[in-house]
Amino acid sequence: MAEALISSPEIEERRVKFKCQQYEADVKASQWPIIYSSEYNISFCGLEKLHPFDAGKWGRIFEFLKAAGMLREDTIVEPMEATDEELKFVHSARYLCSLRWSLTVAGITEIPPVALLPNFLVQRKVLRPFRYQTSGTIMAGKLALERGWAINIGGGFHHCSSDRGGGFCAYADITLSIKFAFDKIEGVSKVMIIDLDAHQGNGHERDFMDDARVFILDIYNRDIYPHDGFAKRAIRRKVELRCYTNNETYLEHVRRNVERALNEFTPDLVVYNAGTDILEGDPLGSLSITPQGIIERDQIVFQKCRTRGLPIFMVTSGGYLRETARIVADSILNLRKLNLISCVEAETAPLIDSDVPLTSLTRSRSDGGLFARLKRSCLSRASSSSQNMSDLGSPAEPPSPSHPCGIELSLPKDMTDLDSPVDPSLDRGTSNTAAIDH
Ligand SMILES: [Zn+2]
Repeated sequence: MAEALISSPEIEERRVKFKCQQYEADVKASQWPIIYSSEYNISFCGLEKLHPFDAGKWGRIFEFLKAAGMLREDTIVEPMEATDEELKFVHSARYLCSLRWSLTVAGITEIPPVALLPNFLVQRKVLRPFRYQTSGTIMAGKLALERGWAINIGGGFHHCSSDRGGGFCAYADITLSIKFAFDKIEGVSKVMIIDLDAHQGNGHERDFMDDARVFILDIYNRDIYPHDGFAKRAIRRKVELRCYTNNETYLEHVRRNVERALNEFTPDLVVYNAGTDILEGDPLGSLSITPQGIIERDQIVFQKCRTRGLPIFMVTSGGYLRETARIVADSILNLRKLNLISCVEAETAPLIDSDVPLTSLTRSRSDGGLFARLKRSCLSRASSSSQNMSDLGSPAEPPSPSHPCGIELSLPKDMTDLDSPVDPSLDRGTSNTAAIDH
């Protein structure tokens, strides 16, 4: 039924005429294929605190990576907000209309007080951040195909399909990214989704039901939400875990099944949904994976794809414990340390307070002047001051200067050692609060 909506003649016609802003954006070599905007974060007069999840997770990941010397505001890619026109590339008009009811959004986000708010506030404070993150995922698909890899610091709304939201997922960013890649990039005809969030990815599964172009590998806890038996039919390789599965069992499943999936199906693009709600102590994921296990998991996936030369992009998906941001940042630093991701041009880009123009390329065509610099500087300071930076890690090692910002990859000697330790000096937060589903 979802497929029928996606393939309607009206949408087919729009497909021909439609230009996607993420594909029009001018991204320079001096920018990492890492996408983030301060607009990702949900902040709403303290209302977000009514639900004990880290609504600023995405900003904290960025700040950790910035403090580690990896990223700067001018060396990342900032997405624009996804437009209605873009969302309609996948979503039904009926579904988008339903988001004009605050009650619907309260159900999707699982924050009941949202139902009491005027919808214009819900749109601005809740859905707008999701639209930015969705745009980031669309852009990640494009950048991964150009550069070999990309990371969206947000996104991964894998419970949302073209006509139904849920589990904190209001837009089907994964479906959108894949559909745009199919539509906009010649030669992209096969995509693999590796979904390693603790929950079953029923949104993209419903959207790609009976679509032979998309191979879905899903490893999830079978005893938790969403129990979507219909969507399971779309999974080509499925691993159903029991509660409290530990590192050893989990990582063996990941290693074996990613390897076998890639032997069965050679995609033009891999979408990696890297939810961190598999973390021990996450009350909704109910698995027992350590921070080190998460870092190793991401390493396995990147190694297997990058050594085969397969373009891959990662989205951060679920996992909202306070310590999650630190773990995601550590994992990205580990990928960089192993040269599984790199961008020498970004690492060596001059600072923006020299005479070099801004390189925030999605915006550079319209607001690259002094005023924009001042505004960005103020925003950056405001953002930084709102973060608790007391547990920031130490800078990671710089990458090999011989490694280009692209698909080619020269592997370090320890690349094949999946058990190689990650920098143990990277500390983590200790609080342990409930998480929202994802
Ligand atoms: Zn989840």
